Amino acid sequence: MHTTRTFCACLLFVALFASSSHAQRGGPDHPSVTVDGTTYTPASILTRNMGTPADQSTAFPPHKIVGNIYYVGTRTLSSFLIVTPAGDILLDSTYERNVPVIRGSVEQLGFKFSDIKILLGNHAHGDHQEGDAMVKQLTGAQVMAMSEDVPALQAMKPGGKEHPIDKVLHDGDTVPLGGTTLVAHLTAGHTHGCTTWTTAVQEGGRTYDVVFGCSLRSPNTIPPDVAAEFTRSFDVVRRLPCDVPLGDHPAEYRMQEKFARLKPGAPNPFVDVAGCHQEAAIEEAMFRAILAEQKQQAGKP
Ligand SMILES: [Zn+2]
Repeated sequence: MHTTRTFCACLLFVALFASSSHAQRGGPDHPSVTVDGTTYTPASILTRNMGTPADQSTAFPPHKIVGNIYYVGTRTLSSFLIVTPAGDILLDSTYERNVPVIRGSVEQLGFKFSDIKILLGNHAHGDHQEGDAMVKQLTGAQVMAMSEDVPALQAMKPGGKEHPIDKVLHDGDTVPLGGTTLVAHLTAGHTHGCTTWTTAVQEGGRTYDVVFGCSLRSPNTIPPDVAAEFTRSFDVVRRLPCDVPLGDHPAEYRMQEKFARLKPGAPNPFVDVAGCHQEAAIEEAMFRAILAEQKQQAGKP
């Protein structure tokens, strides 16, 4: 069963992660970095992002974020619905087993799952895009993917289903639908085609720049080509105009904390200019600490 396999792959990943760390650097979980008073390790970031298996598959209360953008994901895996008069865009199907959960959240908000015309993805890992084939089957949506992620997506075949790709995108390409335009920014590193999406929305007579960040989480060992990708990506994300930071895992933008502050008449807690570069600061600190350890290790006789 693919769901079991995915779950096992996760466990295997965690096991490899822990053991390679242990083997290479003589400790189970380091380096650690402190950013804005909070200390992070590779394992603590992973746990923060993923939560428990139940967190990954349990719907978080669906809600409006800003303008025409809604949250329809689980407690720890983001899925965003962008609603337009010409149909809707879904960003991230997550695991295939979550597709009915996402559909339930879309319907709970009063929208139709069959109105999804375009399916986009954050990056080619199963926890974000495994469900693409099922969403395509249920909605007929056009599936678009960043070219550098195409090989990894093609290898993703839940239940033997081919991964649908109707249109291949390149850095800077735009995806327009019903008056909303999303821009695809290549922010590689976590995967070769990791895509940060941006758009502008209107709310209360103001325009807000929204950034759907791609994961900037480093692997435990960073090869030189991947280091070059991350270095470029940290620079790219810092230059993006941003009022509303979002991410492929809700913890990256402190969703639960902000959701708890949602109140009619109060300022929108998801508008968080000060928080726009928080995740990049954490991940870049970890990236540099891992590189420093690698360099130190390589220098030893
Ligand atoms: Zn990932």
